[in-house]
Amino acid sequence: MTALVVATRTFIREQVLPIDDAYDGDVDAAGGEQLRLRLQSMARAEKLLAPHGPVDLGGLGLTMSDRAPVFEEAGYSLFGPMAINVNAPDEGNIHLLDRVGSAAQRERYLRPLVTGTWRSAFAMTEPAPGAGSDPEALLTQAVKVDGGWLINGRKRFITGADGAGFLIVMARTGGEPGSAGRATMFLLPATVPGVTLERHVGTIDRSMLGGHCELTFTNVFVPDDDVLGGVDEGFNYAQVRLGPARMTHVMRWTGAAQRAHEVAVRYATERRAFGARLADLGMAQQLIADNEIDLAATRALLREACAQLDAGERASKATSITKAFAAEALNRVADRSVQLCGGLGVSRDPPVAKIARELRPFRIYDGPSEVHRWSIARRAAREYSALGSTR
Ligand SMILES: Cc1cc2nc3c(=O)[nH]c(=O)nc-3n(C[C@H](O)[C@H](O)[C@H](O)COP(=O)(O)OP(=O)(O)OC[C@H]3O[C@@H](n4cnc5c(N)ncnc54)[C@H](O)[C@@H]3O)c2cc1C
Repeated sequence: MTALVVATRTFIREQVLPIDDAYDGDVDAAGGEQLRLRLQSMARAEKLLAPHGPVDLGGLGLTMSDRAPVFEEAGYSLFGPMAINVNAPDEGNIHLLDRVGSAAQRERYLRPLVTGTWRSAFAMTEPAPGAGSDPEALLTQAVKVDGGWLINGRKRFITGADGAGFLIVMARTGGEPGSAGRATMFLLPATVPGVTLERHVGTIDRSMLGGHCELTFTNVFVPDDDVLGGVDEGFNYAQVRLGPARMTHVMRWTGAAQRAHEVAVRYATERRAFGARLADLGMAQQLIADNEIDLAATRALLREACAQLDAGERASKATSITKAFAAEALNRVADRSVQLCGGLGVSRDPPVAKIARELRPFRIYDGPSEVHRWSIARRAAREYSALGSTR
């Protein structure tokens, strides 16, 4: 374990976890934005803030492979990723801005994000019939005007939008919904006229600061300087962001699932039934062993995907396989942990029900499992049909 991993582990377990447990992982109940600022100033004092951030802006510039154990330690507490500023969507936005932002955009948007001065949001999904599983259904339009662009549309499930300093908004700049066409990403300070926060969509999870919001954009003017990267490059940049962002979600949720598993195994070694410890009863052992297998397999897939990303590959197949497997495997780990703890498993006493609650949406965001399977299968059909007959 590197010194950074050890320091992150100590900080998260000693300083963050007690707050998370006291509030059952409910970030608003625990203090919301004030809590974020307090935890991040503690992390800053320990030199643990934004370890993935670019070096020129004060981060450590960790590779994907080096991030994995650090982010997993952060994920051990539901508030841990927020505390060290590696939470979604900021972490993915830092990655994207670092890759494609101009020098001026790095100063204006990336620097305050890395230092924790601002939070951000990433706005892609729309209510039906707009973009969801299928990004090509994108309806939000950006039309070129003198000196910039006018954006109109509606977005839903935009994590962290309430209280964000700025948004990255994906809008159509060519073609018709239902075809790939062209899309562009825009940087929008949250206070810009025409952006309305319509509501928080109530969801089962409670640990994400700023909620999951529905927003409307009405004739929002964005100057040319706030086009992120190139015009019409939006779908391309979405891939630049999504592959790594999916993997960092896997890292963080592995930490949470590991905690649920540890708690459940401890319960099983202490609780006695039918003349034995639960941990000595065959079917309970199966739950424990299957958790170990799912956690180990998730980490192995993650290592391979991170190695490919670090080698500069797009790693679409590896990240899709890892995301789909991990989202389901980690949900299984959380669910088995609930089961092993019996009635207490669904209570607020051990921290397993809250982890199961927070993990469930991961099978839907960053691409639902079915969409990843669809894309993995299409790729396999393409690859193997190109090989011709097997005889
Ligand atoms: C907690 C949470 C946070 C989120 N945060 C953000 C955010 O910050 N920014 C953002 O832009 N979006 C965000 N989202 C939205 C998320 O990315 C979408 O929910 C996801 O892409 C699915 O889109 P949809 O909800 O429109 O489902 P739909 O597109 O309506 O799909 C519904 C279901 O159809 C099935 N399906 C879809 N395609 C296929 C296929 N090819 N084959 C078989 N079955 C299929 C799947 O089971 C899928 O779950 C978030 C969602 C949640 C739940």
